[in-house]
Amino acid sequence: MPKGVLVDLTRCIGCRGCQVACKSWNERPVVKTVLAGSFENPPALSEACYTRIRFHETEAGGAPVWNFVKEQCLHCKEPACASACLVGALRKTPDGPVMYDFDKCIGCRYCMVACPFEIPKYEWSKAHSPWVQKCTFCYERQADGLSPACVKTCPTDALLWGDSEELLAEAKKRLATGKYVQHIYGEKEAGGTSWIYISNRPFEEIGFNTKVPQYALPPYTWASLSKIPVEIVVFSAVLGGLAFIRNRGDKGGE
Ligand code: SF4
Ligand code: SF4
Repeated sequence: MPKGVLVDLTRCIGCRGCQVACKSWNERPVVKTVLAGSFENPPALSEACYTRIRFHETEAGGAPVWNFVKEQCLHCKEPACASACLVGALRKTPDGPVMYDFDKCIGCRYCMVACPFEIPKYEWSKAHSPWVQKCTFCYERQADGLSPACVKTCPTDALLWGDSEELLAEAKKRLATGKYVQHIYGEKEAGGTSWIYISNRPFEEIGFNTKVPQYALPPYTWASLSKIPVEIVVFSAVLGGLAFIRNRGDKGGE
């Protein structure tokens, strides 16, 4: 059965242990960052940062409410990024993770345009062999029966890893307590995602894109991409060709 994660935003205390665990497990490079006007740091996902915690302060009944929101790839059930990829470098696995094959990628970056959650990032800092980077859902840990590094680290059980269907049932059970807004983010967004969220604040108030279509996007991916100016498409194709030649060179005649 495919795995997923239920993120209960009422349980997150913003410790960012998940951020550190992710960086460590995935050996992401250390880069100098800045606070983004709050305790949010780094200010955005990047090639060096697969997951981060957003800080939101809203008001309810005249009192401030803080929410800490974990961001990463949602591992869509029908990923638009994979449907946009010309060479099959991205693919949804039956176990849940949307995996990326560095060897196949030609660097066209269509996946970045197609993702409705703006997740994949490009290694702009690398002059040689730049790739697309995003959360892997720790597929190698899962293959060994282990939970993702972020889930393992979370001290408050804000992240619950398990079978997707069971997580959806658990989310519905928690919503029935009346402590949450009546919306499971990811149940329907983009046709459903493996990571789902429940919250005590309306999702639109805490930085979620609530305009994401409530249906699977792959059938529409190429209709959207066809609106990209032809010059950009040609430029991407040239870059892709160069990347392909370069990747072959990197393998040194393997
Ligand atoms: S969130 Fe974006 S990058 Fe992740 S699987 Fe969905 S479309 Fe792909
Ligand atoms: S480890 Fe858990 S509590 Fe800490 S920031 Fe991440 S999700 Fe929130």
